[in-house]
This record gives sequence, C-alpha cells and structure tokens, in this order.
Amino acid sequence: MSELAVSTDQSNLPDIRGSYRFDAALGAKGWFKTGGTADVMVCPDDVADLQTFLAGYDAVAPLHIFGVGSNTIFRDGGLEGVTVKLGRAFNTIEIEDGGYVRCGALALDMNVANKAAQAGIGGLSFLSGIPGTVGGALKMNAGAYGREVVNTLESLKALDRQGDLLTLSVDDMHYSYRHSAPGQELLFVEALFKGHAAAPDDLRAEIAEIKQKRENSQPIKEKTGGSTFANPSAEELESAGLATDWGAWRLIDAVGGRGHKIGGAQMPEKHCNFMINTGTATAFDLECLGEEMRRRVFEKFGLKLRWEIRRQGRYAEGQAPLDNWID
Ligand SMILES: Cc1cc2nc3c(=O)[nH]c(=O)nc-3n(C[C@H](O)[C@H](O)[C@H](O)COP(=O)(O)OP(=O)(O)OC[C@H]3O[C@@H](n4cnc5c(N)ncnc54)[C@H](O)[C@@H]3O)c2cc1C
Repeated sequence: MSELAVSTDQSNLPDIRGSYRFDAALGAKGWFKTGGTADVMVCPDDVADLQTFLAGYDAVAPLHIFGVGSNTIFRDGGLEGVTVKLGRAFNTIEIEDGGYVRCGALALDMNVANKAAQAGIGGLSFLSGIPGTVGGALKMNAGAYGREVVNTLESLKALDRQGDLLTLSVDDMHYSYRHSAPGQELLFVEALFKGHAAAPDDLRAEIAEIKQKRENSQPIKEKTGGSTFANPSAEELESAGLATDWGAWRLIDAVGGRGHKIGGAQMPEKHCNFMINTGTATAFDLECLGEEMRRRVFEKFGLKLRWEIRRQGRYAEGQAPLDNWID
C-alpha cells in the first residue's frame, strides 16, 4: 500500500472534533461549477482543531485548502490527499481601534469591505468587487482598481504543515502581482488589515461605484474564474515588439480567441480574458481552451501567457496534457 493510501485511510486520519467527508463535492461547488471531488475533506471546528489535524497528518502527504474556488479550476479526476474546508469559526470580521480590521480566512472579501465601510475605515473598498475569501486574497495578492492586498495588509496568521501557529508580516509574504511567496506551504487562518479614517457615506458610494463598473465590464453572472491570464509585464511586451498597454485580452483577441470554444468552455465575445463554462464544460475543456490560447499567442508573438487561474488536481482517465501545449 502506498504512503498516500495509508495517510488518507479513514482509520489513519487524526482524531479531531470536526468531521471528515469522503469523495466530497468540490468542483461542482466552485465558481466554474465543474470538476472532480476531494478524496478526503477535513472540516475542522476551529484553529485549534485544524492544528490537531495537521500535527497528526503526514507532513509530506498531499494537502489542499481553498476558499470559494473563484480562482480555481478543479480538474476532473479530483484531488488526492486531504482538502481542508474551513467552517464558520473562520468567518469572522472584527473592527479594532486604530483602523484595523481582523478577519478569519473564510470571510468574504465583499463582507470585509462592507463592514470596514460601515465602521468608517477606508482603503478596503477594492475588496468589494472580488468574489473570493480572505484566504484566497492573501494567497493571490488580490487587487482591483489600483489597490491590492499588499497595500492594506498589516499581518496575518497561518499554520505550517506541522500545525504551528505563525504570525507573518507583509514583507514575509514577498508579494508581487497576483502572487505570494512565503517560502513554505501555509494555511492562512486570519488577516489583520489596516485602513484609514473615512466617512462611511463616501465609502458606501465608492463600493456602489465599483459594483457598477464590475457589472459593466465583467461577466459576473457567468460560471467563470475572473481573469484567465495575468497581463504580461511591460518588459515582456516590449521584447515581443508590442506596445506596453497590451493586456492579455488583446493578445487573445489578436489570435482569434474571442468567442473561441472547446466543448462547453468559451473565451466569451464580450470579455475574452474571462473564460467561462457555458454549461457543459469539463475542467479539461477549460484547461484545453486556455492552453490553446497560450499556444496561439506564443506562436504569433513569442510570448508566454501566464495562467492567473490555478488548476488543481488529477486529470480524469483518458485526459492528459496535449503534445502541443507549451510549458
Ligand atoms: C467574476 C470574477 C471576478 C474576479 N475579479 C478579480 C479581481 O478584480 N481581482 C482579483 O485579484 N481577483 C479577481 N477574481 C479572482 C478571485 O476572486 C481572487 O483570486 C480571489 O482572491 C480568490 O479567492 P477564493 O477564496 O475564491 O480562492 P480559491 O479559488 O478558493 O483559491 C485560490 C488559491 O488560494 C489558496 N487559498 C485559499 N484559501 C486559502 C487559505 N485559507 N490558506 C492558504 N491558501 C488558501 C488556494 O489554495 C488556491 O491556491 C475574480 C473572480 C471572478 C470569478
């Protein structure tokens, strides 16, 4: 029996107060509404319970954690090992003196922005348009309209694979565009944001304006994962002989990607860097479509688009990366 099989065998999983679920729905609950299940899902009661789980779980066996899956394609073959599902205890938002907002990792970004606005704390309104959780935002350095997590995060709490509770500064996260690099695998459990004093009415107006802009510029009612690819850097564009204001959408458009479909996956006519599941897409359809865009852009411009959406898990039987996918 393999190490993995032993470590996720029900009788070998650590005793916790929370629960385990087997073959638990995952892809179907994400934003793309497609993809496989989690072999094992652990639902810890609180931070201490998650620590107990981690202390007893093989530190090198596969482990995953997600928020609401608004930036993830869960592959059709499901996720091996254990997937952590945070529950109610991680869904807190507390206002503290001095313009601080302390949030559990499962709190929705939108709720954080609204609560900060109510309390007259400015600087967090950008979170109102990001449909993920604080945990996902910490990982992805989520941002919009010129602000991102790195601009407003004071510190965060995380567990390492042994279950030790760490406090990290913003610098420890080594943030860059939609990317963090804390140097080890971490499970974020709490964030402390710092804002500035502002009038609640002004903040509410800011949030309403963001909502309006989103409704006009993004397919927010579709099964999507936000921007499929990160915008290339100015240096990348220059070395491809392109103007530095070319976004990923323009590259996709230039290679005939607008409206292109593979199975039930489509780069929509209106927002061609926001891949969608039109209803019947498998996770493999979505990934094949993204890779087809990358291949075309590379062949035409010599530039490698970088996925902003994360792809996680195993391919289903009969699926495998195609020979013409680029690295
Ligand atoms: C319509 C739409 C619009 C969007 N607009 C924007 C935008 O303007 N700006 C932007 O930045 N993003 C945007 N996104 C993408 C997405 O909402 C963000 O990346 C968000 O931060 C992801 O949060 P999540 O909880 O859904 O993360 P998930 O998709 O669940 O996970 C994303 C990554 O974060 C990790 N993660 C999640 N929680 C934890 C945790 N507690 N500890 C450790 N790792 C964790 C996961 O392992 C995974 O690697 C958009 C998405 C959609 C669907």
